[in-house]
Amino acid sequence: MSASSNPVAVNTPPEGKPLVTPRQLTLACVVLLALAWGFLPEFTVSVLANIGLYALVAAGLVMLTGVGGMTSFGQAAFVGMGAYATAWICTSPVAAGWLGAAASPALLPWAGLLLGLVFTFALAWMLGAVTLKLQGHYLPLCTIAWGLSLYYLLGNMDFLGGQTGITGVPPLVIAGVSLATPRMLGVVIWAVLLLALWALHNLLDSREGRAIRALKGGRLMAESMGVDTARHRIKLFVLAALLAAVSGWLYAHMQRFVNPTPFNLNIGIELLFMAVVGGAGHLWGAVLGATLITLLKEKLQDLLPALLGTSGNFEVIVFGLLMLFVLQRFSDGLWPTVARLARRWVRAVPKPAGAGPVVSTQAQLAQRTLPATGTLLLQADTVSKRFGGLVANNEISMTLKAGEIHALIGPNGAGKSTFFNMISGVDDPSSGEVRLVGEAMSGKPSRAFAARGLGRTFQHVRLLGQRSVLENVALGAHLRARRGWLAAALRLDRPEEAALMAEARKQIERCGLGAHADTPAASLSLGQQRVVEIARALAGQPSVLLLDEPAAGLRHLEKRALSVLLSQLRAEGLGILVVEHDMEFVMNLADRITVLEFGTVIATGTPAEVQANPRVLEAYLGGADDELLEDAR
Ligand code: ADP
Ligand code: MG
Repeated sequence: MSASSNPVAVNTPPEGKPLVTPRQLTLACVVLLALAWGFLPEFTVSVLANIGLYALVAAGLVMLTGVGGMTSFGQAAFVGMGAYATAWICTSPVAAGWLGAAASPALLPWAGLLLGLVFTFALAWMLGAVTLKLQGHYLPLCTIAWGLSLYYLLGNMDFLGGQTGITGVPPLVIAGVSLATPRMLGVVIWAVLLLALWALHNLLDSREGRAIRALKGGRLMAESMGVDTARHRIKLFVLAALLAAVSGWLYAHMQRFVNPTPFNLNIGIELLFMAVVGGAGHLWGAVLGATLITLLKEKLQDLLPALLGTSGNFEVIVFGLLMLFVLQRFSDGLWPTVARLARRWVRAVPKPAGAGPVVSTQAQLAQRTLPATGTLLLQADTVSKRFGGLVANNEISMTLKAGEIHALIGPNGAGKSTFFNMISGVDDPSSGEVRLVGEAMSGKPSRAFAARGLGRTFQHVRLLGQRSVLENVALGAHLRARRGWLAAALRLDRPEEAALMAEARKQIERCGLGAHADTPAASLSLGQQRVVEIARALAGQPSVLLLDEPAAGLRHLEKRALSVLLSQLRAEGLGILVVEHDMEFVMNLADRITVLEFGTVIATGTPAEVQANPRVLEAYLGGADDELLEDAR
């Protein structure tokens, strides 16, 4: 996320008119596939149907692992859930007894789909709630554990046929047409896959999608913007599991029998290969990965035993080596490379600057009425924070009123950032209390602070570097909009999305970054990235603004512009608490100053009072000279 790495500039394609847009190319490929479908050889069709089934699961994994940062080796077990649910409903006399008159043969597979989805939903939600709290390598290890457990469970339940499985699964019948062959069912498989890709693409391109993208590496930041990241992680996990279950349902009706073997850990690992090799965070990478691995597996299963003289699953070893190689050379999977090579001919036509999606009716975002000037917004009462033996904050008391700028200064390590974390809910005080607009906030998460009108920036910039400035800022307005995952996936959120984009653009322009709205955040200078953080905080329409070293890295004129902006916000009635090292900036701007040293407040008052305080001069400047006064001139 450093300012020097500029992925966009490096990847900029050679100039020239693209022959087709990605959308046209996608459409052309789909039409070509549809036209060829009836003429392709049986074997090819069956391979393509399998690729479609794998790609559906891999697309879920791209969302979960590539976008959301959660690795799962256990996805094959959810495919098994979907397959077994429908196989059982369609063949078991018990199920027929349950369903009674509703058990007409044509309806049974749909009952199976419903059962599979409900069952997978419940199980995934439960597993997710328990295991997604785990950090680091524990989560992948845990997915291996339950992947294995579910596999053995399937093989050991007598009513599911044990290791032999269930035979006699009927074909799917849609509108009176029996889809008994891969050629028939393959059409449905690919239709479902394309529909899923479309919906997932929509989801990523929405308010909830921005929250999902923040799950990987940006959770602390997203929580401060009001996102319930733990819940989003579980929902993403459930979504990936449901896609796997749908794939399993289709699989059962294609094979017409199920047994535990296709749902073992090996397949779980292969599915993860597909997602990662194809393109970690890119949906079409799932299709690419599924195609490559499926074709490669076919070849290797013929080739390797002949080569080695014995039979066995040797292809797994080759896949492992392949994954190592791909991740070494193409850390983001193969899709970005393919897309870059294709960019000579295929390129999105850039949107004219300033034009968002054209939507006739723009929804209203939630508006907050700011408290009247002088209202007590933030109140810290003897707040202490101890890290083991170190007292980072020692009984700090301070207040912030609407319509004032309060500066918190002190040498490095004085405890300023720690205090910011206390009063923004990122961390809990060891003792003492924080009140926000009258409400005691003890034990509440930072998203509750955001909901009550607190906006903040971070000393160490926390942006989604690959996403545009616009998207980053829009994340700040997360709590002002409502539409959820389903609305986003079906593109019913467009008026609200337009309102969010308009709000984000307004704040970006207000902060003087209008020209950079559509560039990736990481390509801005560090100083500008700090300003993006301010715009993001403002998009939430806060009444309290916490700024941790906002002027660091800004040039002189930029600092002056920031100063003007903050004065303007104060005049509008915001309460602003700012940590800053630039004394000229602080002394000219702040109404009140609190000075910290070794975690303790040593002075508080107007800039003039603080500058005249001998204790401050001594502590802050080591009593060397009156540089503090010099700076202010
Ligand atoms: P400032 O922002 O004023 O420079 P900080 O609040 O970052 O200071 O740090 C105050 C003190 O607390 C420092 O001595 C720092 O090393 C310590 N500290 C901060 N965060 C932690 C932590 N998570 N664990 C242990 N010590 C910490
Ligand atoms: Mg700090």
